[in-house]
Amino acid sequence: MNRKVYFEHVKRIVVKAGTNILVDNQGELYEDFLNNLAEDLSSLKKESKEIVLVTSGAVRMGVFKLGYDPLVSVQNTQMKQAAAAVGQVILMQKYQEILKKFGLWVAQVMVTRSDFRIWEKYLNILNTFNYLLKNPQVIPIVNENDTISTEGIEFGENDTLAAFIANKIEADVLIFLSNIPGVYSGDPKDPRHQGSLEFIPVIEDITPEMEQAAQHAKMTKGSRGGMYTKLQACKMAMNFGIYTVIAHGHEKNVVRRILYGEEVGTLFLPGKRQVQRRRNRKNWLAHALFPKGKIKVDSGAKAAICHQGASLLPSGIKEVEGNFVPGDLVSVVDLESHEIARGLVSYSSEEIVKIKGAKSGEIKARLGYERGEDEVIHRDNLVLLV
Ligand code: GLU
Repeated sequence: MNRKVYFEHVKRIVVKAGTNILVDNQGELYEDFLNNLAEDLSSLKKESKEIVLVTSGAVRMGVFKLGYDPLVSVQNTQMKQAAAAVGQVILMQKYQEILKKFGLWVAQVMVTRSDFRIWEKYLNILNTFNYLLKNPQVIPIVNENDTISTEGIEFGENDTLAAFIANKIEADVLIFLSNIPGVYSGDPKDPRHQGSLEFIPVIEDITPEMEQAAQHAKMTKGSRGGMYTKLQACKMAMNFGIYTVIAHGHEKNVVRRILYGEEVGTLFLPGKRQVQRRRNRKNWLAHALFPKGKIKVDSGAKAAICHQGASLLPSGIKEVEGNFVPGDLVSVVDLESHEIARGLVSYSSEEIVKIKGAKSGEIKARLGYERGEDEVIHRDNLVLLV
């Protein structure tokens, strides 16, 4: 089956690289893998694709550098945290060294689950991603900040983190690079199944039987994911309308081949309704939430928003109505009070009162502190109504 139809118009891609394809059992990096991945990423960037890489491997790298016993350290939170702190640096160094050969810069993004619970932080993360993704030379590389995220508040493994990020940045495709070629009708690592398993190229529905089989498969030492967490993550992604693929990371040019429609790995197909819902997300923003306030803009700002694809900046703001905080949905109206757009604000109503009419360079002086962003509503969080 040709998969081209699903990937033809793909723009945003999240690739997740698991511990087992990055680091061997002696704690050494698979450099061939990294070189191959870097080649794929750089060529996709040249085609204007926006790519986020979610990486694992920090803990395993650190465990070996610190001389910990791998079996003991998986059970010990402090050892894991120390290993992550040490391993992350080495891992990033390697990524940078290799990606640089292909003209790319690494942007390290470390998150914890709790970062997404506070609207202001959440919006900041999104804006940062949106900005980084537009840069043709940058690959944001995300990992959980294991050093400070402890049990209960952690993602725990990067499969869930990758699905989560893919949803938040509205990715079209999520690719899991794993140490198995995809999903089988049972556990391929179980010797009892030798030769009797079937490979499943396309999955439209994750059945309880598949989940059960995956639960039986043991987690490999030093990595926290596994087929079960991957299936759960795929389920999440399918729900969000994201096409998801699990494939073997060590296959040559695997990321590019997937995106060019080759039948590599197992493809998880979301339902038409879910895909439509994702495509309609901006519509949803426009109609499903009730605006918390209004921002009146001058004719210059109106023209920039309506005709030039611009964000809303403080300089064009005339009046503010209502009480709202960063992350709230707000209406943008013109001088005649006609609603022209809606969007999620990065500043509170109180702050906008202070910065309205200000040029970007004056924001800090007016507020008395810096927020690091010029846009009151970033274009990516704005939907036009005219
Ligand atoms: N954040 C962990 C690391 O960098 C990986 C978790 C996982 O195995 O998914 O080692």
